[in-house]
Amino acid sequence: MDKCYRCESDGITREHAPPDCFFPTGYRDNLVTVPSCHEHNTRNSKDVEYVRNVIVGYYSTNEVARGHFQNKVKRSFDRSSKLFDRTFKEASPINIDGEKTVIFSLDLQRNKVVMEALAYALCYKDIGKTYTGNWEIFCPQLISPNLLQNKRDGWEEVRASFREIPYTEMPTPQPKVFRYGIHKWEDEKLVYVFEFYGGFIVHTLAIPPDINAV
Ligand SMILES: [Zn+2]
Repeated sequence: MDKCYRCESDGITREHAPPDCFFPTGYRDNLVTVPSCHEHNTRNSKDVEYVRNVIVGYYSTNEVARGHFQNKVKRSFDRSSKLFDRTFKEASPINIDGEKTVIFSLDLQRNKVVMEALAYALCYKDIGKTYTGNWEIFCPQLISPNLLQNKRDGWEEVRASFREIPYTEMPTPQPKVFRYGIHKWEDEKLVYVFEFYGGFIVHTLAIPPDINAV
């Protein structure tokens, strides 16, 4: 039996990469899965729902995200007012390109849990074994309060260096929901770029096991 994408246990179930709740009706054919133990298939589900809701509602995502918001995300908030309160705590109004919306803080730890799991799963698929290192997660569109006041936020160079990496686009079954690219220096030295719903970007940088993340 194949091993879990994340640990040494047997992969008795399949984990979707990205999680299947990201995919609306009509965009669910041929989704990517990897073998998973029970624990690594279910333990992030609350974080997944939270992060999915935030990304689907992100202002520069496409019409597939808008439809998914109407059908699934609203229902998810109706079911759990706690999730709604947690998601939009400290939300404040903002104008973007003349449109009124809200700005709020993303729980970076929960985002990291979800993006890390996705990176491990894709890496298992792409290099054919469980990746034993760690990941640094960077979302170039997230901004710190400083940027809102037209100041530098200290991440300009990091944003620029991730942008300059020549990624190779990998085939994906539902590119309007999720596309990704890879740049590989060696098997364990690589970086991914994820694109959700045509408009939310995440970079994940592999940190090999013999290097300590800073
Ligand atoms: Zn596992």
